[in-house]
Amino acid sequence: LVSYKRHLEIMGERNSYSKTDLDATFMRMKEDAMNNGQTKPGYNVQIATENQFITNYGIYWRPTDWGTMIPFLDSFRERYGTQSNEVVADSGYGNEANYAYMESNGIEAYVKYNMFHAETKRRYANNGFLVQNMYYNASEDYYVCPMGQHMERCGKQHSVSDLGYRSEVDVYRAVNCKGCPLRGMCYSSVIDRRSIKVNHRSDSFKKHARELLTSERGMMLRSSRPIEPEAVFGDIKFNHGFRRFRLKSNRKVRIEFGLVALAHNLRKYSAILSKRMMGRNHAYATI
Ligand code: SF4
Repeated sequence: LVSYKRHLEIMGERNSYSKTDLDATFMRMKEDAMNNGQTKPGYNVQIATENQFITNYGIYWRPTDWGTMIPFLDSFRERYGTQSNEVVADSGYGNEANYAYMESNGIEAYVKYNMFHAETKRRYANNGFLVQNMYYNASEDYYVCPMGQHMERCGKQHSVSDLGYRSEVDVYRAVNCKGCPLRGMCYSSVIDRRSIKVNHRSDSFKKHARELLTSERGMMLRSSRPIEPEAVFGDIKFNHGFRRFRLKSNRKVRIEFGLVALAHNLRKYSAILSKRMMGRNHAYATI
C-alpha cells in the first residue's frame, strides 16, 4: 500500500511515469519501430515559429496537443509581455476550450478542428442524417430531420474536461420515429425516438474558424504551416540528429531543448547572413 501510494504521489495528474525519469510520461511516439503502438517515456515538445525561427517552446507531460495550447500561449505572453494576433495550428489543437481562450484573448484562430477536411467531402456534405446537415431554426430552436419532423430541445448536458473547461450540450429529440421508412438509415439505437446532441458554442467557434481558414489569408497561412514548425522539427530531428533527450527531469530537458532551439536560431540567422553576403558578392561580380 505504501509503495502504491508513492507511485500515485509521483504520478500526480498523470496516469503513468517512468522509473528511470520520474518526470517523463509514457506516450505514443511517431517513431514506432515495432509497429505495435508501444508507448515510451517522453515529453511533449511544443514550439512556435515565425519565418522558421523558434519564438517559443514548452515541455509538457500531456501527450495530447490540445491540452498544451493554453499553457503554451500563456508562456508566450510571459516571455514577451504580448500575445500573437494570429495563431495557426493543425486540427490537434482545435477544441472548444482553446477556441474560447483565443477569442477571449483577442487572437484570430486559424486553427483547424478534427472534421475540417471531412466536411468538404461529398459523402459527408450529402448525408442528410448528420446533425450538421439538418436544417436548424435558430429563432424557434428546433431541428428538422430528413422526414420533416421537428426535433425540439428536451434538455441540456454538461461536461467538464480534465483541464476544468465546462461544456454545455443541448439535446433535441424527435417526437416519434416509429414506422419511419428512413429509420434504418437514420440511427441504430433501439429507442423509439432519435435524439441528437449539439454544442452550439463549439459549432459557432468552428464556423468562425472555417471562415478564417478558407479566406485568402487563411489559405496563405495554411500553406505556410508545413514549412514553419514542421520544417523546423524536421531540420532538428533529421538533419541535425536530435531525436532523443540526453538529460533527465523536466527542468533539465527544458534547458536541453532551449539550447537546441538557440542553436537552430543561430544556424538560421547565420544562413540568412551568408546568403546576403553571397548576394552582395554576386552583385559586385555582375557589375
Ligand atoms: S427515424 Fe425519426 S429522426 Fe430519423 S428521419 Fe425518421 S422520423 Fe426523422
